[in-house]
Amino acid sequence: MFGIRVLIYLIGIGLVIWILVRLAKSPRVEQKTRAKVDDMVRCARCGTFIPRNEALQEGDRYYCCSRHRNEDR
Ligand SMILES: [Zn+2]
Repeated sequence: MFGIRVLIYLIGIGLVIWILVRLAKSPRVEQKTRAKVDDMVRCARCGTFIPRNEALQEGDRYYCCSRHRNEDR
């Protein structure tokens, strides 16, 4: 009885670890891709998508270049 319990216990732990590893591996890739998409912003003037860190922010709007930012004022 004791041996079977230990075996079931070990299988249970193994399953939990396997599920955790699978959960930890796959969504991380998805999150990275989603974060990349989220980091793209649209120029309020011409509609070009640009990375957030390269975009020029004016209030809650983003622009691809200073010319478009000035034109949209
Ligand atoms: Zn633009």
